[in-house]
Amino acid sequence: MKITVSVIKADVGGIGGHTRPSDNLIQAVRDTVNASSDLLIDHYIGYCGDDVHIVMSHTHGVDNEKIHKLAYDAFVAGTAVAKNEGLYGAGQDLLKDSFSGNVKGMGPGVAELEFEERPNEAFTVFAADKTEPGCFNYPMYRLFVDALSNTGLIVNKSLAKGVDFHIMDVEEATIAKLSLWQDKPVLEAALMYPGRYVISSITTKDGEPIMDASTDRLHNIAGTYVGKDDPVCIVRTQKMFPATEEAGSVFNNPHYVAGNTRGSHNMPLMPVKLNSAATINFCIPIVQSLVFSMHDGKFTGPFDGFSTPDWDYVREQATIKALAIRSQGFIHPATLVPDELEYAEGYKDVMTGLKEKMVPMDSKSDTSERKENYEDPD
Ligand code: 13P
Ligand code: MG
Ligand code: MG
Repeated sequence: MKITVSVIKADVGGIGGHTRPSDNLIQAVRDTVNASSDLLIDHYIGYCGDDVHIVMSHTHGVDNEKIHKLAYDAFVAGTAVAKNEGLYGAGQDLLKDSFSGNVKGMGPGVAELEFEERPNEAFTVFAADKTEPGCFNYPMYRLFVDALSNTGLIVNKSLAKGVDFHIMDVEEATIAKLSLWQDKPVLEAALMYPGRYVISSITTKDGEPIMDASTDRLHNIAGTYVGKDDPVCIVRTQKMFPATEEAGSVFNNPHYVAGNTRGSHNMPLMPVKLNSAATINFCIPIVQSLVFSMHDGKFTGPFDGFSTPDWDYVREQATIKALAIRSQGFIHPATLVPDELEYAEGYKDVMTGLKEKMVPMDSKSDTSERKENYEDPD
């Protein structure tokens, strides 16, 4: 049976800041989805920091108007509660007032896969907060390209053939298919810049879907920056795909990602338990893993992938790295480059003060003369 798994997420308000949604907000989302649950085979609702995710299974395919509208309506209902309760950032990710056929470009993030269900279908949803879609560049590289991180790339026939990466240029809104192993250096060059090139999806060489990620950049949609586009992705696991524990383990080295407080710093990505709030310790970026089994579209799970004791050690490593980079305050690379700052306008305003004080340097410090007299050492 062909099943579609759709994960649609949005931040429509947090308690006292960008922490977590209120219980009433979640209930409003749940009630709205339940009211139209005849459209779905199954669903699960949870949150990562201040972002609510709706995981749905159905037979309507990807980009389906009814499914997207259902999620949009649920977030509108959550926004009404957020406004009533005075939650911070009520309706933050709903950029348009009325639904127009597809939730893409309206603010919420979408990851969707349609596939012929296997007898023991297994997939994991990774949901992140206080970061951007490029946060998946490093772990997905480890999972599908780096055999030192994933032995499955050697011993699993399907993975050893290499996969196709679909890489999006979020500035130009273009997409490129890069095929392993011949395109490896090109892929690496792109993944080097997570702020610009992000993994949109990954398929086998035969086009079987393995991974899909939300790749909307809120600042491109809205024209002005309205919040970090906290991402989700779905990864199918087991058999011809990575083992579930291979997919989880690539998050065990908390790498630096763009995001956290004011969406303006580089901080490590910390794996946390399901339905964790964002920390008020400068909002360390967080990622959760929702491990599902599925049969006839019915979910069992999610099992909380980052709940076992070993992940406490990884969280400690992330905390150490977070405090280390915070110890150098606003000095790069602790902060992002000016174009990536969530508060870019504020920074520009401050910098006008510097521009006004700038005067041309006197002729003594003109380097052109020195350049003429310069001799190459060899
Ligand atoms: P969110 O993108 O999670 O809403 O966080 C925004 C922010 O600026 C936190 O300081
Ligand atoms: Mg928020
Ligand atoms: Mg968020």
